[in-house]
Amino acid sequence: MNKKTLDNLKDIEGKKVIVRVDFNVPLDKNGNINDDNRILMALPTIKELLKKGAKLILLSHLGRIKKESDKATKSLKVVAEALNQKLDATVKFVDSTRGVAVDEAVKDLNEGQILMLENTRFEDVQNGEVVNYESKNNPNLAKYWANLGDIFVNDAFGTAHRSHASNVGIANNMKIAVVGRLIELELRMLNKVVNEPKRPLVAIIGGAKVSDKINVIANLLKIADKVLIGGGMSYTFFKSLGKEVGDSLVENDKLSLAKSYLDNDHAGKIELPVDIACVKEFADTKPTYRAIDNISSSEMGLDIGPKTVAKYKKIIESAQTVVWNGPMGVFEFKNFAFGTESICKTIANVGTDKLFSIIGGGDSASAAIKMGFHDKFSYISTGGGASLALLEGKKLPAIEAIHNN
Ligand code: AMP
Repeated sequence: MNKKTLDNLKDIEGKKVIVRVDFNVPLDKNGNINDDNRILMALPTIKELLKKGAKLILLSHLGRIKKESDKATKSLKVVAEALNQKLDATVKFVDSTRGVAVDEAVKDLNEGQILMLENTRFEDVQNGEVVNYESKNNPNLAKYWANLGDIFVNDAFGTAHRSHASNVGIANNMKIAVVGRLIELELRMLNKVVNEPKRPLVAIIGGAKVSDKINVIANLLKIADKVLIGGGMSYTFFKSLGKEVGDSLVENDKLSLAKSYLDNDHAGKIELPVDIACVKEFADTKPTYRAIDNISSSEMGLDIGPKTVAKYKKIIESAQTVVWNGPMGVFEFKNFAFGTESICKTIANVGTDKLFSIIGGGDSASAAIKMGFHDKFSYISTGGGASLALLEGKKLPAIEAIHNN
């Protein structure tokens, strides 16, 4: 990697270091942290900087802020408390993103202490008006945050595909801007898929955000040996072939793109499910497994079936590298966790000594962790969108903004 890292920082004792972390953790209905993986993955950078005597100012977003009332459930205070429990250092929290309270708190910060500001995306809505200062990289906000410190460390891989004030904006206003240990690790791991995979390389794509993910298939068809489709993504492909998909999830404006992938896939890399768990309504009820030609117009498919699992298992077992983004079904319902759990089990049974396996961010990573497979993958990425962007062959703007070594 040609970017500056923590190794390039000298004499940081007593310096104010702004660290952009990704503390966008999933919260349950009561506002408690469901999965603290992203906090744990940020610890190496935080601990290293504290050990060197820095004063840390942490910035992160949490969820999306579209209206004033979203702020009530998206405060980072709960994360500051969780971080405090994981460190010997004091973690102070200020419930503002800029202004006098922030300035005072920064002034009071001592060596080896941490100050966490409120959710950076609170800047997106001001007095009920959507202004997107953080998300549209407002220059005044970027300058304000940059002026809080002497050095900038970006360690938020999960937002590295975005050009926001708290990553690109700050980096562009600092004399010293480096990446942290998590970003270094993520890039090293994803490089083993994108640039130097041991073959066969198998990509597994599922989930529900079809329009966000379908574009990645173009590049996967270049770099992978097989592309296994599952989850909600499958039905856009089936419908593009003229099949009945009932009420299953379909993105109609992506039908011709899906069809063009199939038409141009002369090497036969794309694999589609052969059977589907069908139900009459979106509920956690016992499904009927049907061959894909037998889905009725009054049903929807919420998981892959056992024949698909058997087919995908064979392909995964012959692979040397697997990259996976998006669950195979609505795993949140126990009746539709079968596909996702079976793929996890297959990867676990092959083992990380024979198979380099990465699961990419978001729901698929949470599913694997929740199902108890967290140590069965070679790597669980903290960034769904960012890892997809790398798989698409794109550059990540927040990493591009870091100074070259
Ligand atoms: P994504 O963020 O794109 O990875 O989507 C994750 C979501 O996809 C999960 O919440 C799953 O419940 C959902 N999902 C997976 N398969 C299906 C399906 N067949 N129909 C609807 N939603 C699905």
